[in-house]
Amino acid sequence: MSVPPPLNPRERILMGPGPSTVSQRVLRAIGAPTLGHLDPQYIEYMDETCQMLREVFQTTNPLTFPVSGTGMAGMEAVVVNLVEPGDEVIVCINGVFGGRMKDNMERAGATVNTVEIPWGESFSDDAIAEAVQQHPKSKLLGIVHAETSTGALQELTGISKIVRDAGMLFAVDTVTSLGGHEVKVDEWGIDAIYSGTQKCLSCPPGLSPVSFSPRAIECMEARKSKVQSWYLDVSMLRNYYLGSGGRAYHHTAPINMVYALRESLAIILEEGLEARFARHRDMHRLLRSGLEELGLSYIPEHSLHTLNCVAVPDGIDEGAIRRRLLEEYDIEIGGGLGVFAGKAWRIGLMGHSATRRNVLTLLAALKDCLG
Ligand SMILES: *Cc1c(COP(=O)(O)O)cnc(C)c1O
Repeated sequence: MSVPPPLNPRERILMGPGPSTVSQRVLRAIGAPTLGHLDPQYIEYMDETCQMLREVFQTTNPLTFPVSGTGMAGMEAVVVNLVEPGDEVIVCINGVFGGRMKDNMERAGATVNTVEIPWGESFSDDAIAEAVQQHPKSKLLGIVHAETSTGALQELTGISKIVRDAGMLFAVDTVTSLGGHEVKVDEWGIDAIYSGTQKCLSCPPGLSPVSFSPRAIECMEARKSKVQSWYLDVSMLRNYYLGSGGRAYHHTAPINMVYALRESLAIILEEGLEARFARHRDMHRLLRSGLEELGLSYIPEHSLHTLNCVAVPDGIDEGAIRRRLLEEYDIEIGGGLGVFAGKAWRIGLMGHSATRRNVLTLLAALKDCLG
């Protein structure tokens, strides 16, 4: 077999539903020398990474670390550690990722009560209060903060109070919000949360930051059965990520990916959380006014800043436009997912990709493509 030519990926502008563009600073961090996963120098880098994650999650939860794997591994880690066969849970579904959460819960042996609303809509506090009243024996309620399949933002403060007053754990997917929208784990009473590196953290895919509250740890410690997944069993992972002194080997940490996450979190904290959220809001407004000028309309009423989902005008081949954007302008945007397949474009404004240059370039390119 002949050896393929050297790797030479194009420098695309990534404005789809993830991954987002990764900065040179983060890419350089990946290229630093690989250390052993028990090397004291590496352990220090890892501790610093976990500490910065706490700041970005706005939590003091000691049990905060990056799961090895993408966002779905974080979802699975939350589910398999908190749910035991026979448990009753509530899952809120208004798009693809709520549906995946339900599937994960069922695989872990839970009886899943769902609250479903049309795609693109966000849940009212009343809808959640009703579900909690109807299924009072549920152990937890799971919801998606930023539903990437529809672009809908979910307000969490009212819901959190309802869920916790009912004595249930509150589990939240923040894969498309962490680092782009405000996420306050402690203030919002979130017990279990997961995210992903390749969306608003602008790090390559491969890690899933998670955090568990003391209440969630109590629940894990009271388990009657072993966690069904060996790889994602937090009771063992804690001894490596948070062990005092002697760090117990569980699996080899993805060392260079942790370097990348450490660098991307440092970039976020240098910018400042408030300034970063304001930048995402401003870029969303700039994009939104430009898209509306082109005659495109947003699908969700409560749009995310980080993911902009607009309807494809009648008679337009959405796939052909995306292909032209990619081939002629090196810009990637996303198509519709699930119910919105063929009917929507999803434009990401995540982390390093959320810049005035990118927004104005995309608007000019789209105008050209739409003729
Ligand atoms: C992207 C995404 C996931 C899954 O993350 P992967 O990194 O693709 O595994 C889960 N939830 C939401 C809301 C997402 O946007």
